[in-house]
Amino acid sequence: MSIAPGTLYVVATPIGNLDDITRRALEVLGAVDLIAAEDTRHTRRLLARFGIGTPATALHEHNERQVCGRLVERMRDGAAVALVSDAGTPLVSDPGHLLVRMAHEAGLAVVPVPGPSALMAALSVAPLPVHRFAFEGFLPARAAARRGLLESLREEPRTLVFFEAPHRIGAALEDLCAILGRERRAMLARELTKVHETLLCASLGELARRVAADPEQRRGEMVLVVEGAPAPPSGTAGLDEAARRLARGLARELPPARAAALAAEITGRPRKLFYRFLVSEEGGGQ
Ligand code: SAM
Repeated sequence: MSIAPGTLYVVATPIGNLDDITRRALEVLGAVDLIAAEDTRHTRRLLARFGIGTPATALHEHNERQVCGRLVERMRDGAAVALVSDAGTPLVSDPGHLLVRMAHEAGLAVVPVPGPSALMAALSVAPLPVHRFAFEGFLPARAAARRGLLESLREEPRTLVFFEAPHRIGAALEDLCAILGRERRAMLARELTKVHETLLCASLGELARRVAADPEQRRGEMVLVVEGAPAPPSGTAGLDEAARRLARGLARELPPARAAALAAEITGRPRKLFYRFLVSEEGGGQ
């Protein structure tokens, strides 16, 4: 395969099962001048498994600035470089963002070599709608920050996806139950593509119970997929008869926008719902 000089290849690698490496990934890794790896020992083991002897250099958060500058210089001089992380797709909760950004800024070609990702693997087997989703990466480790983030996601209608560490999954599920409710459907996908691959599909409450009761469910690498917030009632279905009477009464004295605002203030229900009702035929159609 021909490798373009002065190019950064961003290469996905397996998340467990080595057979998931793509032919193109192997060709690129074998043909570039240098591989920038999150952990060179880990990547050398992968390369050795496929008989690839390309040199690797470490690129992680502690040396990023300095190493990225050097790599961009080498690519400017015509070198082809591959970026890999320990597993899966670089940049997805993994290092590499700075190198990709600097390569773009330097006017170098940046080429994806797509392949495995725990995020997409989990979504592909989730019993939840995934045509739209919100990927939140790792939940914050500290309880206060985690709860704050979950509060901000309470009304998010898209399916939610989190990476979580095994020693925090119990606490995270408890917080999810407390903030999003125990009823939401969810899936805990563990050890995807590996020997102990497990998909646990249940309500958040049931998942929390199973994970607390069975230490096996707290082992390995995991992705948590959670159903989004239920859609708000469409039309005016969310207003009971008392709320409708109140709105009609206010609308006899006030313009609909003002009446809706006042009714919302009195009942704590959304202003939009009252407004929609008041301008509908049922509400007087003003
Ligand atoms: N960039 C990687 C990717 O695209 O899959 C993700 C890197 S992130 C540092 C590592 C996290 O991904 C793990 O803590 C876990 O949440 C998830 N993960 C990675 N491999 C996994 C697997 N085989 N099964 C389930 N989750 C996995």
